Amino acid sequence: MSFYDELSKYDLDKFKALVDSRSASDVEQALSRKGLHTVEDFAALISEEARHHYLKDMVQMAMQLTRRRFGQCINMYLPLYLSNLCNNQCVYCGFSSLNKFKRVVLTLEEIEEECQAMNQMGYENLLLVSGENERRAGMPYFREVLPVVKKYASYLQMEVQPLESEEYAELRELGLDAVSVYQETYHPDFYSKVHLGGRKADYRWRLETPDRLGQAGIDKVGVGALLGLYDWRVDLCALALHVLYLRDHYWQTQISISFPRLRPAQGGFEPTSPVSDAKLLQIVAAWRIFDNELDLTISTRESAEFRDLLLPVGITALSAGSSTAPGGYAHQGAALDQWTVNDARSVDQVVKAMESSGFEAVFHNASTTYFKPLSQAV
Ligand code: SF4
Repeated sequence: MSFYDELSKYDLDKFKALVDSRSASDVEQALSRKGLHTVEDFAALISEEARHHYLKDMVQMAMQLTRRRFGQCINMYLPLYLSNLCNNQCVYCGFSSLNKFKRVVLTLEEIEEECQAMNQMGYENLLLVSGENERRAGMPYFREVLPVVKKYASYLQMEVQPLESEEYAELRELGLDAVSVYQETYHPDFYSKVHLGGRKADYRWRLETPDRLGQAGIDKVGVGALLGLYDWRVDLCALALHVLYLRDHYWQTQISISFPRLRPAQGGFEPTSPVSDAKLLQIVAAWRIFDNELDLTISTRESAEFRDLLLPVGITALSAGSSTAPGGYAHQGAALDQWTVNDARSVDQVVKAMESSGFEAVFHNASTTYFKPLSQAV
């Protein structure tokens, strides 16, 4: 039994009607519920009824819940792009194997240079990112890379191709703390339309990855959908089911959620269901109300102004000064970026903006103990 089996019980397109049919009393019930929320509550929180009549209340409640649980601290992390080599054919991504450009896999020396540059920027919470290429950026590569990066990282995260449970367990021994694997879209038919080739075309293999991570005892698992790719009502409700499932089956695993919105990349794929700024604000508040303990992360895909607006609502981790090109910290303009950075402020500028709003940027030892529920932080 995995989340694939669980999700197979649902007709996902029915989530559109579920969200659209939520009434004022459904929203009020979701806002007043104590303890675990249901997917019906979540549908109410992301509904148009909630956006038109309850957004202010939702934002205030999300702010209070976040401060009560996480205080004023924001974890600062930085992505390290190891490779832009990818065997997959995701129609919305600049790294797709369908696009022709110079491919790079960083050597250990280049990685060390990147880590040094990232440490100089103040970062110890490092996120390793790569395209998916088993042969040149697979387990043998990761076995060599992690010991190098670990010298510079007090918290080490990965966002690479899905692996086997035993492989995650092995990387955990090498210092891996957290892994993010975003489903992009939970809708199986649409998933097939936008993942044309490579291992990522295997919907089930990807969907079951958080199960394998939980079984391997990885401390934190990041899940999410690429907003705008398919209908956001469907993907967000399926993601809520995923969170409920993970909480139920892997209670020791922390969960983080990201809100990537589809942005322009090489290949020119346009969002089919765009998510507006007001909608994303509502979505962030909805997640916080749905589950007070979620780690909520926002990347530099979003603009400076909008990130500053979202920050107090529920965000617990963010990046600043990011490069999405392999080698981009030590050597600017090193290779093609995966997507366009929208908040191009320096780290100092972001930290100053945070401090002026009363937040503290945490760069060192972004230990999950900091954010653990009291019952676990022993
Ligand atoms: S989204 Fe990831 S897997 Fe898909 S083409 Fe881009 S880098 Fe490769």
